[in-house]
Amino acid sequence: MSKTTFELTDDVMYVKGVGPNRAQALAKLNIRNKYDLLTHYPRAYENHTSLTEIIDLVEGETALVVGQICDVSSRKARNLTIINALLEDDTGELQLTWFNQDYLLNKLRHGVRVLVIGKTKFDSWSENMAMNVQRVTFLDADEEPELGIMPIYPLTAAISQNVMRQAVKNLLKSMPPLKEILPQKLLTEHELISLDGAARSIHFPQSNEELDAARKRLAFDELFMIQCGLLLIKRQTQDERLGISHAPNGRLVNAVLNDLPFALTEDQRQVFGEVSADMESKLPMRRLIQGDVGSGKTVVALLALVKAVAGGWQGAFMAPTEILAAQHFETFNKLLSGLGIRVGLLSAKVTRTQKLREEVYNQISAHGLDIVIGTHALLQEGVNFAKLGLVVTDEQHRFGVAQRKSLEKKSDTLPDMLVMTATPIPRTMTLTIYGDLDVSLIKHLPPGRKPIKTSVKTPRSRKTVYNFVHDEISAGRQAYVVCPLIEHSESETLADIDSAEEVFDELSNGIFADVNCALLHGKMKPRDKDDIMERFRDGEVKLLVATTVIEVGVDVPNASVMVVEHAERFGLAQLHQLRGRVGRGSAKSYCILIADMKADLARERLTALETTTDGFKLAEHDLKLRGPGQFFGEAQHGLPDLKIADVFRDIELLVQARKAAENFIGDDANLSYFANLRTNIALAYGDKFSQITEA
Ligand code: ADP
Ligand code: MG
Repeated sequence: MSKTTFELTDDVMYVKGVGPNRAQALAKLNIRNKYDLLTHYPRAYENHTSLTEIIDLVEGETALVVGQICDVSSRKARNLTIINALLEDDTGELQLTWFNQDYLLNKLRHGVRVLVIGKTKFDSWSENMAMNVQRVTFLDADEEPELGIMPIYPLTAAISQNVMRQAVKNLLKSMPPLKEILPQKLLTEHELISLDGAARSIHFPQSNEELDAARKRLAFDELFMIQCGLLLIKRQTQDERLGISHAPNGRLVNAVLNDLPFALTEDQRQVFGEVSADMESKLPMRRLIQGDVGSGKTVVALLALVKAVAGGWQGAFMAPTEILAAQHFETFNKLLSGLGIRVGLLSAKVTRTQKLREEVYNQISAHGLDIVIGTHALLQEGVNFAKLGLVVTDEQHRFGVAQRKSLEKKSDTLPDMLVMTATPIPRTMTLTIYGDLDVSLIKHLPPGRKPIKTSVKTPRSRKTVYNFVHDEISAGRQAYVVCPLIEHSESETLADIDSAEEVFDELSNGIFADVNCALLHGKMKPRDKDDIMERFRDGEVKLLVATTVIEVGVDVPNASVMVVEHAERFGLAQLHQLRGRVGRGSAKSYCILIADMKADLARERLTALETTTDGFKLAEHDLKLRGPGQFFGEAQHGLPDLKIADVFRDIELLVQARKAAENFIGDDANLSYFANLRTNIALAYGDKFSQITEA
């Protein structure tokens, strides 16, 4: 296949060396066009700049050796296939070993010339050097082996490292210089190399310095583009013509405040004040409320919704699960129905039957409901509000930016937006995740909370622990047992970790045989999950064995004990969220973490939970100890994936990119760069971002 022009959006099949079969394999890696291939960055590099002769090999070092194969043999040992061969060069012999690479058997013939890479060791049996081969490349008789810094790409089974390298190489060869997308001033200021240079060097750098410079440039671009995107979103909403000026707080809001069974805390009052000011302003509100589990975010949302309703608007409240939506519906109805506010629930139950569904849809579009609570169902096609004035999303990190957008589109004006999250995110991090939002913080829990007693136990104390739980249940309480999710992709050493099913079997047939137990896990049908949650909430089920599906804010005040199995497998922030499920009632509450405490790090991590109840502190602690991947992986959900930047390692670059983006967006002289930038945002993030940043 040939083509005279070059466009990054060309199908990857136009790259030399990529045919239909390889294109299909590449598609599995989400590589569909040339741009995708260009930005399929190496996950690591092998730094091999020189060959070693066999006589010069040093034990314990990784080396590259070229030679001829002789004496190939293979054998089976349990479920392993072991291949042995001897490699000869002019200076000596090297014993080679491969594990489980049967396909090599018919290629490794006597006399073929190969380049091998691997770590060497001295084999005292044969008194030869030996090598476990990491990679072998077959060479023609007079072929020069390729040296230098070699990229290691993420792959699928159908594509080899060599094919991938060759494809990228061919792409780079045919690619005209990339147009620069950043103004020279910015490049100078931040000491960035050209886009074209970076795009090439990231794949085949000549030196470590060149690699670092390429990485820096591309990471900057990524962070800069996201920041520009977020700021563009923010700027769009800063349009006075589109916003709603809600009425000042009056009779209805005061009535709700009077009816509440408690007084607002100082924090809640202040946050509601900020929300009120935003709502009364002509600019559309885009505000995030961060507050620890149990800090009382819901009531602030409720007040904001009532405020909207008082001025004749409708409000929507989007919860991440059916259970939560139902729970909020109950709370809201209890407080609001007496005041003549009509609250509706758009649940899966409702949307499953056409008749019920249309009835609710009609009520929404005819302004027969003032507040509608629901899950993703609120985003469906048929849902059209007559007069949508405020949208609240709870536990926002489970909804993407795009979903938030689609709710906004359900109205001619830009409704105010309030998002709430209990995920404690250190301040600098909010820039990346919530860069388009203003942030309010509820720092302190409502008064009178009994602290949850947290203790860390070893597996040897399991029996004692569950005896204690049994006593609590006999005394009328309920309990959670939380088990980690087991992902099958992980190493086999985890296979011995009990799954929730096994724990459930063990407990419900053993010490809790006389107690009503239930099992809840993510793979169950939503209907079954709801059913079990309901029975737990009603007190029928006493002991709930669950995977982390209970993480999201269900409120069962009578549940006073939580046991977490294999607690060492959870992040601190996550454990903190989990334990927030107990301690909601009047009984003294316990969180017992059963953990394998062999590792010092695990012990240090978990004991932090015994002494600290501050979610933000724990999150920061977690970050320091566990590194970014685990922590951010989940919270980041909804934003475009970062291909090269790492918001933790590159935190300084992130702050620079944010500042640069603010200047860039604010300066109309940069408008000529906008087009290029937008093209790149579209290429990089597709629908996720380009739709949003359309003017
Ligand atoms: P979250 O921030 O996790 O969503 P909730 O809004 O569910 O927390 O509140 C947790 C519990 O605290 C609820 O039972 C709620 O009624 C109660 N609560 C909220 N605000 C106060 C307050 N100011 N004083 C006493 N209890 C409160
Ligand atoms: Mg909540």
